[in-house]
Amino acid sequence: MYFKDIKSLSRDELRQFLSDNGHKPYRADQVYVWLFKLLMQTYEGLNVPAELCKLLESNFHIKSLREELKMESADGTVKWLYKTADDFPVETVMIPTETRASVCVSTQSGCAMGCAFCRTGSMGLNRSLETGEILEQIINVWRNYKVTNVIFMGMGEPLVNLDAVHRACVCLHDQKTFSMGKGRLTISTSGVAPGIAELLERNTPCQLAVSLVAADDKTREGLMPVNKRWNLTELIKAIDNYLERSGEWVTLEYILIKDKTCTKTAAEDLIRIVKPRRCKVNAIVLNSNENPELQAPSEQEVNEFLEIVRAKSVQINIRNPRGRDIFAACGQLASNPCKVAI
Ligand code: SAH
Ligand code: SF4
Repeated sequence: MYFKDIKSLSRDELRQFLSDNGHKPYRADQVYVWLFKLLMQTYEGLNVPAELCKLLESNFHIKSLREELKMESADGTVKWLYKTADDFPVETVMIPTETRASVCVSTQSGCAMGCAFCRTGSMGLNRSLETGEILEQIINVWRNYKVTNVIFMGMGEPLVNLDAVHRACVCLHDQKTFSMGKGRLTISTSGVAPGIAELLERNTPCQLAVSLVAADDKTREGLMPVNKRWNLTELIKAIDNYLERSGEWVTLEYILIKDKTCTKTAAEDLIRIVKPRRCKVNAIVLNSNENPELQAPSEQEVNEFLEIVRAKSVQINIRNPRGRDIFAACGQLASNPCKVAI
């Protein structure tokens, strides 16, 4: 076991580390309070023997990300650009509503999944983040806002970094730290089917969202390379297994793209998938991206699509885009702060 950030260690691992180095294991609880209740980002002031402080300092970062830029949208959404210690970009978004403050965290710097509609996808992958780097994004926001929800929907595919994401959820759920109920933690995957089964096996405290995006294999494969590895049949099998074993609802994210996923046939395909399952659909109108072949549908096309789906009593919500003017909306995170609002 080696982590660069102290926040990546579970409570038990920290206890073990302390006792291996001749210190009292109960000190781990004290350090945990320092990090996750008091939200401290320096070892200075930590009330433990100086020798222990030195040991921690020489082994682990307590702060791994440095803030490079903060941008605020006209709608209140805030986006931060950080750099990791090895200089990779990481973006975090805070989305306020009247009753909530949701933090959208990155699980990787960039993403290897290559979805055709996503700016993060066009960056490629730098590397996966460790747990401490994921938690630090939330802590940074929490120091200024009361965070109510965490969504793992920033840069990266959470289920290819499942161990780090699982650990972050466990820490956020821990009653002695953030005490966030599992309903307040949502992991979104582009469709890494075995990862969905692993979330169940590990009993990760979270809810599941799947970026369905399109409801037939041909369209989905053209938009998301992951569909070549796990097609809709396999993905739906994994979702059904999750629904059955967890007893929870699953959210399906559906992107409305002109002439591709916003047609009558597409609506019928979507109904066929959603109708028999405990799923609700979050539809998002395509946000601007780097692919000229992919355009947003007109308002009328969107309304017609919604009407067809709703006529069959399928739950579909249309998500208001937030933070488009600062490139903070879904699929727009690509550490490109120079680009100005459209
Ligand atoms: N990698 C994970 C989580 C991060 S992506 C995943 O794909 O699920 C967050 C969400 O933004 C996904 O639901 C994705 O489908 C959506 N998205 C990506 N690009 C988009 C775009 N240009 N317009 C609207 N939504 C987009
Ligand atoms: Fe990666 Fe998700 Fe973007 Fe696809 S939509 S490229 S999986 S971040």
